[in-house]
Amino acid sequence: MRLDDLFARRTRTLSFEFFPPKSERTWYTLEDTIDQLAPLGADFVSVTYGAGGSTRAKTREIVEHLQKAGMTAMAHLTCVGATRDELKELLNEYAAAGIENLLALRGDPPKGQERFVPTDGGLAHAADLLRLIRDDGRFATLCAAFPDRHPEAASREADWIHLAEKLTIGSAGAITQCFFTVQAYLDMQRHLRSTTGRTARIIPGILPITDWHALERFCLRCGAPIPEELRARLAPLADDKVAVRRAGIAWTVEFCQQLLAAGAPGLHLYCLNRSTAAAEIVTALRTLGSDPQG
Ligand SMILES: Cc1cc2nc3c(=O)[nH]c(=O)nc-3n(C[C@H](O)[C@H](O)[C@H](O)COP(=O)(O)OP(=O)(O)OC[C@H]3O[C@@H](n4cnc5c(N)ncnc54)[C@H](O)[C@@H]3O)c2cc1C
Repeated sequence: MRLDDLFARRTRTLSFEFFPPKSERTWYTLEDTIDQLAPLGADFVSVTYGAGGSTRAKTREIVEHLQKAGMTAMAHLTCVGATRDELKELLNEYAAAGIENLLALRGDPPKGQERFVPTDGGLAHAADLLRLIRDDGRFATLCAAFPDRHPEAASREADWIHLAEKLTIGSAGAITQCFFTVQAYLDMQRHLRSTTGRTARIIPGILPITDWHALERFCLRCGAPIPEELRARLAPLADDKVAVRRAGIAWTVEFCQQLLAAGAPGLHLYCLNRSTAAAEIVTALRTLGSDPQG
């Protein structure tokens, strides 16, 4: 199903994000994860797009596989390392494979490169990719949003102006980078309303917190600041794996409850190809009367 059609019917959605496994063993882990998450009845799932050629082909393969299993799926797609013509060719391949939904991204600079440099004959920004896909006419698109500043942007507001542009080009909505304060989400929504005159469908991207050191590493990589209140709760437990996991999941559940209460149109869980934490969070939310699907 196209996500623009799904969003027209559903006020809130639950979705999970996977990445292409690198080996046969991790492929089986992903298969198990998909099976274990199936009973939660997610509205859609998405598959990331890597920097290298082999993981890119896997994105398409996994999305096809998920669709054959009856799921609504979305392929991530970036501008990295491809010319405009190669991207058009990729769209042909995706359409031939029955893929209808794309998360259009610029992508991060490849390893060892500090700044993003567009490929010769390629695209510089996600907005350019969104225009290419819109002109193609065969796909529903989403884009990325950053409640905390995108690492390269001069300010949050400077980045949100570009987000407004991406939404105006025709994205059915956006999924956020992981973030940890409800206020950042509300500030972004208020800013978008003031620039576009409407409320955008911005689905919070949620990282299940299970390990303090992993959280610090993840946030360093993606530039998301960890608020003091979260640090104070989890850092003292950092080396007690059981205690930090319990406290991290409890914190994530509270955060999700607050976001849903503040009007978020569902949740997108970064599962990291594992099912347990995501399943615990969704089950806890439902028990507490905060179903992500409303
Ligand atoms: C939900 C989600 C999923 C992701 N999945 C993947 C994935 O599968 N594969 C992957 O490689 N990466 C992925 N990323 C990471 C993403 O590619 C990076 O964060 C990238 O740095 C920004 O991508 P973007 O689409 O927001 O880029 P853009 O919207 O192009 O923004 C990038 C920077 O350029 C600025 N900018 C935008 N337009 C203009 C303009 N016209 N003039 C000047 N500046 C401008 C923005 O403010 C921002 O600072 C994902 C991110 C999110 C939030």
